[in-house]
Amino acid sequence: MEQRTPRIVVLGAGFGGLTFCQSFKHPGAEILLVDRQNHHLFQPLLYQVATAGLSAPEIAQPIRAIFHDRPEIQVRLGTVEDIHTATREVIVDGKPERYDYLVFALGGRTSYFGHPEWAEFAPGLKSLEDAHRIRREVLDAFERAENTDDEAERRRLMTLVVIGGGPTGVELAGALIELSRQVLRRDFRRIDPTQSRVILIEGSPRLLAQFPEELSQNARETLEKMGVEVRTETRVKDLQRGKVLLPDGTVIEAENILWAAGVSASALTAKLGAPLDRAGRVLVKPDLSLPDHPEVFVIGDACSIVDCDGQIVPGVSPAAIQEAKHVSRIILDELEGHPARPPFDYWDKGSMATIGRSAAVAKMGPIQFTGFLAWIAWLVVHLLFLVGFRNKVAVLWQWFYSYLTYRRGARILIRKV
Ligand SMILES: Cc1cc2nc3c(=O)[nH]c(=O)nc-3n(C[C@H](O)[C@H](O)[C@H](O)COP(=O)(O)OP(=O)(O)OC[C@H]3O[C@@H](n4cnc5c(N)ncnc54)[C@H](O)[C@@H]3O)c2cc1C
Repeated sequence: MEQRTPRIVVLGAGFGGLTFCQSFKHPGAEILLVDRQNHHLFQPLLYQVATAGLSAPEIAQPIRAIFHDRPEIQVRLGTVEDIHTATREVIVDGKPERYDYLVFALGGRTSYFGHPEWAEFAPGLKSLEDAHRIRREVLDAFERAENTDDEAERRRLMTLVVIGGGPTGVELAGALIELSRQVLRRDFRRIDPTQSRVILIEGSPRLLAQFPEELSQNARETLEKMGVEVRTETRVKDLQRGKVLLPDGTVIEAENILWAAGVSASALTAKLGAPLDRAGRVLVKPDLSLPDHPEVFVIGDACSIVDCDGQIVPGVSPAAIQEAKHVSRIILDELEGHPARPPFDYWDKGSMATIGRSAAVAKMGPIQFTGFLAWIAWLVVHLLFLVGFRNKVAVLWQWFYSYLTYRRGARILIRKV
């Protein structure tokens, strides 16, 4: 009987999908890689695009360019709409695509804790579109503040609120205060950008809750020294256009409100017919496959797994990368006739968050460090993982330039005229 070429469909070219395709090399298999964007996005540096430090092409890479020398990989720009595990098909822009193996790596999305209407007033940060919206609205608010004669309106335009004190919220708050206090400082004539307020709101008792307590404390002190107003144990009661309402009755009036408080998995996880956790992530088997479909794997931010050492695997890029390599190994072994499926084992290499110029916190195994050393470690790790040599050189140059001059290059406002 004639053997059919196995077809592997990979959904998503984020950290998980991209790494799978990079590690999966088999002469007898074809791969279809689907993404609704034509680029792989390096999300850890997205906040720098949102705050005018970097521009989009420096943190994104066209997917076709990444795989130009891999003829067995077909790239499809399209939106995944549905998945039929019973017939082994996915629907991309209305068209069915057959698979023998499916790697689901569609990542997550911003979650507003049951308040989807808040998205209109407080953009999240997940895509280049989000980053451009934030950058445009923040820079635009300073321009409008320069042009108004109304003092209260000027204060409102120069107030920025960041909701969520995890790594993204901390990074955003630090970058925004630096933008106003250092970068825009001398550029206006009627307003003083150093008088702007950046308020960081976190519901739990401390920032960076997943880091050790001393590092959380260090992050808070550093941000406060830089001028950020940090409010922990403060849950947002309601959001309206330009207004944050707190449970004690306080209303913060701010032109820019940014949401960095929650993520949930891609809504398409519900199409897999498998059990999900509260954040919509698929509860996968130890080998990362679906309970009733060994040919379907879920990796990255879309899955929920406790590894063989009993640790909950976090929703971070190293986890997506390691999971992708694990699934690649399993499928390669099966195609070679070795069907053993070892459980996934996560290697936690540590975590870090940057706070601002020369300031970061880092934890690697038992070692914790802060300040300049942690910041250098953060820069090196992010440069190493950034995809594409050109991007590494461009980002290094931008960082060097900003460090020396206190200027940010990506401040061009593109407005409809
Ligand atoms: C602002 C921000 C900062 C972060 N900082 C860090 C950090 O410093 N360190 C760290 O380790 N992690 C960080 N993370 C988390 C990290 O980016 C994720 O854990 C990682 O991207 C997960 O990889 P993934 O492959 O599961 O999903 P993603 O990388 O999100 O990729 C999902 C892909 O699926 C595509 N897609 C989604 N839906 C569809 C659809 N319906 N049809 C077609 N394509 C679709 C998307 O376009 C995307 O390319 C950060 C995340 C964000 C948002």
